[in-house]
Amino acid sequence: MVRKTMTAEQDCLQCGKCCEKWGWDQGGIIEDLVPWIQDRRTDILRHVLIRLRDGTIRTGRDLAMDNLPKVARIYYWVSPAGTKLTYCPFYDKRKDGKVYCGIHRVKPAVCIGFAPWAEVYHDYGLNCPACRDIAP
Ligand code: SF4
Ligand code: SF4
Repeated sequence: MVRKTMTAEQDCLQCGKCCEKWGWDQGGIIEDLVPWIQDRRTDILRHVLIRLRDGTIRTGRDLAMDNLPKVARIYYWVSPAGTKLTYCPFYDKRKDGKVYCGIHRVKPAVCIGFAPWAEVYHDYGLNCPACRDIAP
């Protein structure tokens, strides 16, 4: 989502459509959390909902490396109070008309791996400008 570096065949215009459509209500993986905890990125962790194996629900704000084995599920994104968001808090639309990812260098795997032009999605409704070669 919102890629600054893409393959030569694709040309992301940073329109932000993919983040608007897919940038919330996504699941996370433990590997996402590790650099955020190590770098004390509470600005990110406070927007992450964590369900522990004992059923406890909390944001990731105070999560420590020792807690990771207890994590059962990870959800993106929530408010600092733990309320589910229907948008990504790191979506940054600027005056140049482009959308930037506020956590581009450390964004979660689900965002890094998302490629709207990939065969598997067949999501023509998304109308990604980078998908022009597979338009219906
Ligand atoms: S929808 Fe396509 S062009 Fe727009 S930001 Fe996403 S990848 Fe880039
Ligand atoms: S974290 Fe970045 S890439 Fe992922 S949905 Fe938010 S703005 Fe888009």
